[in-house]
Amino acid sequence: MGVFELLHGEGESTDICFKAYDARQDKVPIIVMSGDNKRVVSKYDVGGSVLACDIDYEFNNNLFIELAIKLKKSGIREIYVDNAELLDQDTIEQLFLTAKFLDIDVYCYSKIKGKEGSTEGSRRLIMLSDELIKLDGFDPFSENKHFHLYHGAMEVGKTASLLMRAASAEQKKKKIYILKSFHDRDPKNLVSRAVGIRRANYVFHEESLYELGAKLSKREIDIIYVDEAQFLTPAQVHDLYHINRDYSIPIECFALKIDYLSNFFTGDAALFELADTHYQLTKKCPCCSQNKTFNVRRDINGRIINDLGDQIVVDDGNQGFTYGSVCPSTFIREVFGIKDEASLIKRYERHWLFFI
Ligand SMILES: [Zn+2]
Repeated sequence: MGVFELLHGEGESTDICFKAYDARQDKVPIIVMSGDNKRVVSKYDVGGSVLACDIDYEFNNNLFIELAIKLKKSGIREIYVDNAELLDQDTIEQLFLTAKFLDIDVYCYSKIKGKEGSTEGSRRLIMLSDELIKLDGFDPFSENKHFHLYHGAMEVGKTASLLMRAASAEQKKKKIYILKSFHDRDPKNLVSRAVGIRRANYVFHEESLYELGAKLSKREIDIIYVDEAQFLTPAQVHDLYHINRDYSIPIECFALKIDYLSNFFTGDAALFELADTHYQLTKKCPCCSQNKTFNVRRDINGRIINDLGDQIVVDDGNQGFTYGSVCPSTFIREVFGIKDEASLIKRYERHWLFFI
C-alpha cells in the first residue's frame, strides 16, 4: 500500500529537490510534478548554487488517474507534488487513490493555510492524508504559542488521551478546565472505557466562547481541554485561538478529523489552520499494516453505509447504526465503491461529463 503524505512548512521546495536528487542518484523510478506546472526551485541557495528540479509531467485537462495507471505500468514507485494546494479536490482524490489503489507512494507538499486562507485542495489533502508532516521543526517564537490539535479517527483513544493528559496536569498541581460538545449521548461527561469517566466543566452549543477567557484567566486556569472539538463552529475555534493568544492559557483540542464520508465537520478546517501543532492519534488495522484513518457508519447487520444521511447523528443505541474506523483500503472499496481500474476511472469520468 502506498503512502499518502502531506508535507508542509518552510522549505517545501528544497525538500523535493533533495528527495528527487537522491532518488535519481539511486535510480529509484520517481516523478516530480507541481500544482503550478512550473520547475521546482528552492528558496534557499545551497553553497552559492540555487537548488532546482524539473517537472516530469504537467497537470492538464486529462484525468490524472489515467496518467497514474500508465506510470504504474512503467514501474514508477514515487510521485512528488509541489504546490499541491493549487490543485482541485478531484485531482487530490486521484492522487490519494494513486497511493492507496495503485500502490505508488505520493508525497504532496502543500500549504495548510496561505495568505488567502486554506484552499479546496489543501483541505481535501488534510482529510485524506495518512499524516501531516511539518518540515520546519523548531520555531523560536513558539514558546507561549500553545494551541494544539490532537486528531484522529473513531476509536483511536482521543477522549482517553485527553483524560490522561488532564490527570497528569492535575498531578503537577495545574488547574484545568474541560469543554465538551452537546452533540453526544452523554454531553456532560467524558467517558473512556480504558481510563474512566469525568465531568465536563462546560458544554458548548454554538454560542460565543471568547468571554470565557476573562473568567478562566481570573480563576487562574492553567490549561483548557476541548473534547469533540470537531463540533465547534469556525467562530468558536477563532474564539479559543484568541483566548490562547490574549490570555496565554494553553488550549488542547481533541477532534475527529473526518466524518463517515471523509468530509470535515464544522470545526475541522479552522482547527487545522489555526493550531500551532497537529498530533495524530492512530490505531493499526488488524488486516493490513495501515493506520485506521477513515470512519464508517454501519447498519445493524454491520454493513457499511455509503449514502448521504445527516452528518451528525449521535449513536445512542436507537439509531439502527454504529460507527467505527477502517483503513484507507477498506474505505476506498466500501465507500468509494472502487474495486478495479475500470471503476476507478469511472468515478472521475462521471464528474467529467457533469462539467461538459
Ligand atoms: Zn486494512
